[in-house]
Amino acid sequence: MEIQRILANNPGPFTGPGTNTWLLDDGGGHVVVIDPGPVDKEHRKAIENAVADRAVVSVLVTHTHLDHAPMANPLARSLSVAAIGHAPGPDFEPDVLVSDGDQLGFGEERLTVIHTPGHSADHLCFRVGNVLFSGDHIIGGSSVMVEEMGPYLDSLEKIRGTGVEHIFPGHGDEIDKADEVIDWYVAHRRQRHQEVLRAIEAGARTIPDIVGVVYAEVDPALYPLAARSVSAHLRLMSDEGRIAFAGEDLVTLPPQAP
Ligand SMILES: [Zn+2]
Repeated sequence: MEIQRILANNPGPFTGPGTNTWLLDDGGGHVVVIDPGPVDKEHRKAIENAVADRAVVSVLVTHTHLDHAPMANPLARSLSVAAIGHAPGPDFEPDVLVSDGDQLGFGEERLTVIHTPGHSADHLCFRVGNVLFSGDHIIGGSSVMVEEMGPYLDSLEKIRGTGVEHIFPGHGDEIDKADEVIDWYVAHRRQRHQEVLRAIEAGARTIPDIVGVVYAEVDPALYPLAARSVSAHLRLMSDEGRIAFAGEDLVTLPPQAP
């Protein structure tokens, strides 16, 4: 098996160094393209050059965010293969839908689909042996924005302790010692959860107030993402019965028991 990264030229506060497009070769010239990224002529040329005369079997998408999926359809069409994902998105229409536990063969190898909702509801990871292509479920060098906190934590547990050793993420460098990194992700989320609760107990009543307290050390360019993660923490806390909140902004502690 052979794994090759092609970095898209879309660096930024939300994408780090840019989106990683991964080429996965079974060792016999059968290639799967994972996350072809945004529509970009140069990036597409770089993918096609890297594929060279090998046979692309399919184009896979971890999730439908705009830094991962939009080039999947045009690339798949030009290669006469299927674009594969969990659900349609704003700029992605899968030819083949896959879900948790599905297996996709490429040459001598077989890849397993793992549904990992949390960063987005449609998020998939792809596993071959002890290797995981993690999209934005787990990325190199930082935590991720989370839409749904409960499912996200469950999706981390779904990977932890299952024998995954090497993670090839949607952004940043390859991760070895996968379980150590997942432990850090879980601990980081638990810590944020406590910090959000403490900010509310100290009087913060709106999402921007909470972001200002909890993410004080973070680049303000990331505040919109932080706000979404805070909102996800609040919804989980509400499910846990620890807080009540009305609409997007108003956060209140539940009334004291008599
Ligand atoms: Zn991304």
